[in-house]
Amino acid sequence: MEGHNESVFHPEALAGADLGPDEREQSPPETRPDQESLRPASLGAFLGQPRVVENLRVALTAAKGRGEPADHILFSGPPGLGKTSLARILAHELGSTLHSTTGPALERPRDLVGILTQLGPRDVLFIDEIHRVPAAVEEYLYTAMEDYSIDFTLDTGPHARILPLSLEPFTLVGATTREGLLSAPFRARFGLFERLRPYPTEDLLRIAMRTASLLAVELTEDGARYLAERCRGTPRVVNRFMRRARDLAQVQGADAIDKDFARGALERLGVDEWGLEEMDRQILRCLAQTPNEAVGLKTIAATVGESEDTLEEVFEPHLLRCGFLRKTARGRMITAAGCERVGAPPPTESSDSSGELFT
Ligand code: ADP
Repeated sequence: MEGHNESVFHPEALAGADLGPDEREQSPPETRPDQESLRPASLGAFLGQPRVVENLRVALTAAKGRGEPADHILFSGPPGLGKTSLARILAHELGSTLHSTTGPALERPRDLVGILTQLGPRDVLFIDEIHRVPAAVEEYLYTAMEDYSIDFTLDTGPHARILPLSLEPFTLVGATTREGLLSAPFRARFGLFERLRPYPTEDLLRIAMRTASLLAVELTEDGARYLAERCRGTPRVVNRFMRRARDLAQVQGADAIDKDFARGALERLGVDEWGLEEMDRQILRCLAQTPNEAVGLKTIAATVGESEDTLEEVFEPHLLRCGFLRKTARGRMITAAGCERVGAPPPTESSDSSGELFT
């Protein structure tokens, strides 16, 4: 990339260009100070997911050794498992600047151009919800990722001009909760593909302990285990439990969060022994109205007032893991255990289970 600085595009050269997304996304809404202070800042502080951490460590060490940007990386997995945290850690470990945006914020190619041209050498560009990048913008990303260049089209019709732009070598880190929605050519341009899975209890227990020490609150091991077993395998959820338990301990003047205290704190949040929250119970009650028939996702979403995406990404996986719900080719069905959970009559024995996808 010798001499590429000369042809680096300066955003102000584009009269009237809306270069907002980078600025808009510098402080995404979820990055509240409290949340920030709980984010692990280095690979060493990132607990769990050992295979992912090891692969990243190798990739980072190799890239730093060569003085090159790290390969483009795609993280997939349910919300709250650490994808954003890992993107921040990567930038930190590479000693580079992180630029954050989201797929839906990149409405037009010029939004992307605005961000790409602000990247410094070996910077990290993080695109959350990358499956929602519009197709027209996605195509610009292809050459940006492969050759660190883009051909930007100015104007339309007979006045259209192509402006070739050189970019600094950078690393794109994408995060998606719906990897299946990413096109094959897009996926193929990532060098590393890491899938995050729900955390086992022991890892969540360590995360809860770490959070307790950051929040300066005493947490006993049985208290940590109680919370870890009810947080759906998700660090963000165990951290939320910890913050609420900390508030309660402070208000009630409790010395430590032990098992009984943790149970009381979760009861107040409407979280039951299985880690189910009110929305989970609403979903089960909706399905329990027709225990012998499958119900479509659209119908459930309309009944409980939640988006189909959130139902699929956040609520269903836990209900499936608990064995309260099953998916069939025709829709979702409640199980006998699910009916019992919400005090509804169970499905009849002859309930049709043909077309079952998985339980
Ligand atoms: P995602 O981007 O996958 O939705 P985040 O990276 O925003 O998830 O993580 C949510 C919160 O959970 C973060 O604020 C962080 O405090 C915590 N967290 C996630 N993974 C870990 C981990 N492995 N170790 C410690 N804390 C974690």
